[in-house]
Amino acid sequence: MPTDDVDVPLLQMRNVVKTFPGVKALDGVDLDVRAGEVHCLLGQNGAGKSTLIKVLSGAYHPDSGEIRWEGELLHLSGPQSAVAQGIATIYQELDLVGGLSVAENVYLGHEQSTAGFGRRTLTTKLVRAHLLRLGHPEIDPSMEVSRLSAAQQQIVSMARALSYEARVMIMDEPSAILDPEEVAGLFRLINELKQSGVAIIYISHRLEEIQRIGDRITVLKDGVTVGSDLKVSETPTRELIKLMTGRSIEYAFPVRPAIPADASVVLEVDGLSRPHEFFDVSFTVRAGEIVGIAGLVGAGRSEVVETVFGARRAHRGTVRVQGRAVRNGSVVAAVRAGMGLCPEERKAQALLLQEPVYRNVGIASLTRFATAGFTHDRAELRAATRELDAIQLPRGQERRIISGLSGGNQQKSVVARWLLRGCKVLLLDEPTRGVDVGARSDIYRIIRDLAISGVAVVMVSSEIEEVLGLADRAIVMAEGRVVHEGPTEGVTERDVLDLIMRGDAA
Ligand code: ADP
Ligand code: MG
Repeated sequence: MPTDDVDVPLLQMRNVVKTFPGVKALDGVDLDVRAGEVHCLLGQNGAGKSTLIKVLSGAYHPDSGEIRWEGELLHLSGPQSAVAQGIATIYQELDLVGGLSVAENVYLGHEQSTAGFGRRTLTTKLVRAHLLRLGHPEIDPSMEVSRLSAAQQQIVSMARALSYEARVMIMDEPSAILDPEEVAGLFRLINELKQSGVAIIYISHRLEEIQRIGDRITVLKDGVTVGSDLKVSETPTRELIKLMTGRSIEYAFPVRPAIPADASVVLEVDGLSRPHEFFDVSFTVRAGEIVGIAGLVGAGRSEVVETVFGARRAHRGTVRVQGRAVRNGSVVAAVRAGMGLCPEERKAQALLLQEPVYRNVGIASLTRFATAGFTHDRAELRAATRELDAIQLPRGQERRIISGLSGGNQQKSVVARWLLRGCKVLLLDEPTRGVDVGARSDIYRIIRDLAISGVAVVMVSSEIEEVLGLADRAIVMAEGRVVHEGPTEGVTERDVLDLIMRGDAA
């Protein structure tokens, strides 16, 4: 490794904070990157990885914190100033311009200054040189980019980075769109870039990739750096999983009352499968019970609950509510059968962002408030307020536009929606993601109270301790399969880590 510990890192980020309405995406993040290293940024969904690199690439202004370049304070006024500094980003969704050629894309926005005559030939020559350096001489600079494969487009993005003489190249989940052979090619390339002194910030949640190409690792969780500057060669995988799934603060969980022996089975999932996502998943949930699903990103947990809810169509298997089969692939049928879902991406999937809270609560029960095409606003407001009181949303919030609420209060509103609807099965995907620390205990209390009132609850969580602390039973998933199912009583975080590791290796 061409790094030297006494040297000032090429890049330092200190105490970076970035808040979006309702969520603190970054809450004081540190990151050090040295020239010529592959620095991996690791963390579960929502940990803040993409936000951090958007700050570094000038796309977002941080609320506070500083960035230093070779020790000097760096002010990024926008994406162009990051690029000018030598920070290039290969985005997850490639951002090439469809109608333009490879060469035009590479030099888009910084056309050669050699005005006029011969410019085109010069550009083509330079692009060809970059592509050669990247080991892809077969890509023709005059070809339209939309005709290239995803892997080749990624190479074009990198050629563009080289054209800017980037010294830091940020790659956000670059392997996600590649097949294994292409991944091998990408790794060769990363090694070459590294040899030439380029620092790579590599984002991935695939631990085996990090072991293969990473030098150091920074682990993020809930917008906080929970592991910094860990040497890959000295950090066992178990430690990394622990950092990603562990928790930074202790919470009190509500007591778990015993489930009545005669409590009936409300939800039955039997042999549910979707190709490439999850296989043969079966479990049951009784009235009053909370079942938690633990596992890493990519284990298939969200896909399972979305399929149970009918938002995805099962390839095989059945879902029953109170003994009756629910039509496959139909959210309408799932809601009619008494199911509710609080999804992982609240903002994108669950909220009517520009509507007041009460409308967001009433939306699943609209038929109750609508006659002949009119919505009875008053009735809706009154009913919603009653449910919001029940979950202790502070009075006066019910008329506010929901996007202005804190993450915790937004989550409470989504739960209130299903309360109002009177659901029998509540599916919660990462219920405390983006929820302010103070409001977490409230959310736990609400979930437990719902169970006590007879609802069957399924909760997906990336925090092992949350599953063990809140749920009555735990399901552990790895690589799309259920690798364990049983009571949470007496199970330790370490036990679950072992199960995840063994399942991942299988
Ligand atoms: P990661 O890339 O690690 O999955 P992100 O940086 O995308 O995490 O997200 C961190 C948190 O910030 C999440 O809770 C996410 O929902 C929230 N978030 C990210 N971008 C925005 C945005 N533009 N507006 C509001 N919230 C956002
Ligand atoms: Mg991301």
